[in-house]
Parts: sequence; C-alpha cells; structure tokens
Amino acid sequence: MRKKTTSRGKRGVNLPHVFGAASGNFYQDVLKKSPIFTSPQACHDLEMLEPVTRDAVKQVIAEAAKLNHKLVPVETYRSQARQAYFFRKGLTKIPTVGCHHFGLACDLALMDTSEPDPVGEHYAFMRHLAETAGLISGIDWGRPNLPHKFRDWDHVQRVTVDDQRQLFAETWYPDVNYRPLQRLGRTRITEINDPILIQPQRRMGAAHPTHDTLAHTGCCW
Ligand SMILES: [Zn+2]
Repeated sequence: MRKKTTSRGKRGVNLPHVFGAASGNFYQDVLKKSPIFTSPQACHDLEMLEPVTRDAVKQVIAEAAKLNHKLVPVETYRSQARQAYFFRKGLTKIPTVGCHHFGLACDLALMDTSEPDPVGEHYAFMRHLAETAGLISGIDWGRPNLPHKFRDWDHVQRVTVDDQRQLFAETWYPDVNYRPLQRLGRTRITEINDPILIQPQRRMGAAHPTHDTLAHTGCCW
C-alpha cells in the first residue's frame, strides 16, 4: 500500500514527541496552546522555536562561540499583540504576524562586550553560520547578489520570504525536510568573508539593543 506522504509539513513527519500523536505542526500544537501565545512581552525562550529552527539556532550560537563571538537570543516567539504594538510604534512594517509568530525566526544579539552590539555590519559573520545551519539570514534574505534595502542583521529564519505568504495565511508550515536555501535555488553557501552589498544610506535593522525595549532600529519580519 502506498504510504501517505507528508503534505506541506502538516503531518506524518518525524517530529519530536512534543507534537503528540495527532499532531499538526509546531505552531498549531505548541505555540497556540502556550500560555504566552498572546503575551505582549518579549520571549527569548528557545523552546518556543520550531524544533528544526531551534537546533539550527543553537548551531549558529555554538559556531559563533568558536569564532569568539557571543550570540544571545533576544527574541524567539512573538505574539500578535507584540507585533501590533511594534506596528503602532512604527517599528515594523508588518501589522499582524511575522515569522517569529510561527516559531520560525530568532533575533540574536552580539554580546562580545557587556552591551548588545548595535552595529549591523558587526553581525556579517552570522550570514555564513546561518546558512551553514540551514537558515536564511536577515542580512540578505538568502539572496546575496541583490542590493537589499532592508536588512535585519541579527535576524535568522527558516522560511523564504516568498513562502511567508502561505505561512502567514496558515495554509502551510515547513516540515523537517524543508530547506529554504534550496528552495531559493542556492547552490553554495556564502563564505564568512563574502562581501555584503551595503547600501549605507538605508542600513536598517541593526541589532536590538535589548529584547524588551523599543529600540528596534529597523523592521523585523
Ligand atoms: Zn527578527
């Protein structure tokens, strides 16, 4: 008999036990049931990241440590209430939800000193680490050859920008086999010293000075 295959990560994938027997996806089964699902507070709990994303973020942090960089998660899950609050304050272009809301994005502050580094370019090394871990970096959204106007230096996510539409519509969720860089047709990972096409006049999305202030300097998905 033909085995039922996974469709858009809805079921049948080899996910950790936290999904339970009749699992849908991490957003439906874990985030929506979390007591902080509607919290307006910042969340930096890695457990609120979808498991593949969580492992990838942990890998980025570990690899950064080998380079003597300290990365600290400052925002993982984000509620609609918090996103709407940011929108009212003019700190994001997205009024309702972003990848953070689905447990598929993380902001990592560079803490090589006692303060989060606010200089976006200092996060350039993260792009290579993110891609090595299977994530898209907000530095170039997986498209290193484009001169992006919007860069979110401390942001990583496990979904392409194009796939965000169906994610936000809750009609799709990435399964464990989803590979955003492959989805973009990428055949190589950026090296750590590959140049970033900087547009100095529009350097947005520098690091969040702290996770619970309104110091976002740019927009965030
Ligand atoms: Zn972010």
